[in-house]
This record gives sequence, C-alpha cells and structure tokens, in this order.
Amino acid sequence: MLVVPDAPRLAVLLAVTSSQGFCAPDCSGREGEMQYRNFGKTGLRISALGFGAMRLPMKGEHVDEDKAIETIHRAFELGVNYMDSAYFYNNHESEVVVGKALKGWRDKIIVSTKNPDGSVDAATWRKVLEEQLRKLDVDKIDVYHFHGLNWSEFEDHITRPGGAMEAARKAQDEGLFTYLSFSFHDSPEALVKLVDTGEFTSVTCQYNLLDRANEPGIARAHEKGMGVLIMGPVGGGRLGAPSPEIQKLLPGGSKSTPEIALRFVLSNPNVSCALSGMSDVKMVDENCATASREEPLSAVERAAVLAQLEEKRKLAELYCTGCEYCMPCPHGVDIPKNFSAMNAYRVYGLKDHAARRYRELAEKNASAAFCEECGQCEPKCPQKIPIIDQLNETEKTLGS
Ligand code: SF4
Ligand code: SF4
Repeated sequence: MLVVPDAPRLAVLLAVTSSQGFCAPDCSGREGEMQYRNFGKTGLRISALGFGAMRLPMKGEHVDEDKAIETIHRAFELGVNYMDSAYFYNNHESEVVVGKALKGWRDKIIVSTKNPDGSVDAATWRKVLEEQLRKLDVDKIDVYHFHGLNWSEFEDHITRPGGAMEAARKAQDEGLFTYLSFSFHDSPEALVKLVDTGEFTSVTCQYNLLDRANEPGIARAHEKGMGVLIMGPVGGGRLGAPSPEIQKLLPGGSKSTPEIALRFVLSNPNVSCALSGMSDVKMVDENCATASREEPLSAVERAAVLAQLEEKRKLAELYCTGCEYCMPCPHGVDIPKNFSAMNAYRVYGLKDHAARRYRELAEKNASAAFCEECGQCEPKCPQKIPIIDQLNETEKTLGS
C-alpha cells in the first residue's frame, strides 16, 4: 500500500526544493549547494546527505543538548532535509533531542525513526509508536522503520495475525506515520526478498567502499521505486580515519578518507541518501560540502575506483579468502579474523581499525598470539597459506 503524505506538507517539501532550484528529474542542485534526489516514488526530494542521530554529542551520560541542536540546525541550514533517529539511539535520548531540534523546522524536514522490535504483538508495537510520537513531539512520523528487520522475523512474526504489520497498517491509515520502511542487517539475499514483498516504501541498509554485498538489493529496491537510504557510508567508522591507500583509489587523490567513502556511495545512482552520524558542526560542514558536488564521481572516476577495489579484493584473497576451512583451531585462534584484521592494515591501510579488531580478538584469547604452532590448520587451507608464519607476522604488526 502506498500512502501519499498529507497535501500541505508535501507542498511545503516540494516547494522548499523547488524554490532552491532543485527540480531536475533525479539528482539536481547547483554546484556547491546540497544536492537533492527523488525519494523513490514518493514525490519527495531528499537531500543526498541525511542526518543520522545516533552519535549526538554527549556530556557524561546524557546528550549535550545545546551542542546537538546547534549541530543539527547547521545541517538543516546547509540543506539536509532527512533526519533519522531510533528508539535506542543515544541511551534513548536521541528522539527527544531531535524533537526539540525540529521546532521551527518540522515542515521542511523528513522525519524518520525506528520501532525496535517487530516480533511483539500488535498492541505492544503500537504502544512503542505512540511513545516515539510523544518523544519526538510530532503528530506524524514521515518514514517509520522496522528496526533491523530480517527475513525470518518478517515471515514468522511481523506478518502473523495479530502481529506488528497489522498494527503498522492501522497506524498508517490513522495518519500516525506516512511511509513504512525497514532497516536491515541480514544477508544480501534476504534484502532482495524483503524488497520483493512490495510492503515497503524505502529501505535503510549498509553499503560502503569495503562492503558492497548489498549492491544487488539496492539496485532492486531502486528499480521497484523504493527510496534507498544508506547507513554506514564510512563503514561504521572504519573509513573515518585517514588511509593513504583508500585516498589513492581516486585518480588524483581525495581530500580525506571519509570524503572518498561518501562520494563513492553517492555515485551509485540507485542511492537516494547517505546517512551520516554527525556529532559536531565541523563534520556537518565537511559532509555537506561533499554532498554538494553535482557529480560525486565521474563515470571514469567510479570505474577507476571499482577497478582498484577489485585489485585490492584479489590481493586480500591471496592472503586469505575467509573460507574457514582451517577452523576450528584447538587453541582457540580465530585464524580468518586475524587475517581479516591484517588485510585491513596491509591492503587498505586502515591502521586504527585493524589494531582495534586485533585488540578485540586478543581480549577473547583468539588472536595470533595464542597460536601454539601445532600445524593442524595448514594442510586444510586451499590457498596454501603459510598460516603459522602469517600469524606470527600479524602478531608482530598488530600485537603492540
Ligand atoms: S598452528 Fe596455530 S593456528 Fe593453526 S591450529 Fe595450531 S595453534 Fe591453531
Ligand atoms: S583456510 Fe586458508 S583461506 Fe580459508 S580461512 Fe583459513 S587461512 Fe583463510
């Protein structure tokens, strides 16, 4: 079921983009100003950059409201018109702060949030929605998500009689939200299946330079007329730190790793909007400048980046494909995860991320340091990787 927004609000949202000259059929906007794209078939124009309200600045245990609202307003002033929150973000405080930031802006902003649990009964699901409306202090949510939906939850719980889908359609008919959406962390195949149900107006999913598994599902969603929102365009922080290797992917280089990461996501024509969890004005300014490029990457640049990524993927596979045939290790070493951390460092130059991943393995007694060199794993590796030597090198490189 496709529900159109109430006429006055649609008129305002369309007028905002039209008055700024953003009227071309798909991506459009003057160079140097925020670009806008079609939000699927809704008729709405959405800013290429969306504000993810999951990393609002904190003061101790609580959101630093003044700083958060200043940051959000800066994004609004620079043309961001999609605001994405969720029940649990920022210790349950995100929606309340977003609600405060929306005062005076409500009619210009597409407001999105997520119901945390689709497996509950209709009444419980509805209660959460009502609580979120109160927290956001709005009469209606524009884009309402099932948070972290997976295929089995959809089949076994959400669509059962008396389940959340019944509550969702009733609430939608009553005008408590306009568009039904889902955010997603399941398999790429499950994404296509959920898109093909035809139940949803848009999807929010992971996609970035280093993880392109959802590309087919994203293309399918776009083809079906759905809006596509990308979370994690900088790989959940992986691409947040400088990496000369990543910056060199672009012929002529790029200003920073997050910049090339965001440009890559936005250069996919099937993407409506990339969400960024922004916690200060500087980050907003940088991301808005990137989302204000009329052409995030030229066709030649995108092809060059894709070719180099393919080279890097092959190089990483020379070191380890992640097949897990060598597992389990009798001493608890997680061999593929150690090599994945090492590859993040030697192939992609992501030092901080690699060191963090390695520390996590060490805390679980699964890092290369726990290898007793028993040799059981090596004959099982189809890549003939000298596992013991490579683990030694991993420990030497990332262990300290
Ligand atoms: S050689 Fe090391 S990693 Fe391989 S099985 Fe033995 S202890 Fe585990
Ligand atoms: S068997 Fe070889 S390629 Fe496969 S995960 Fe183990 S080390 Fe990597």
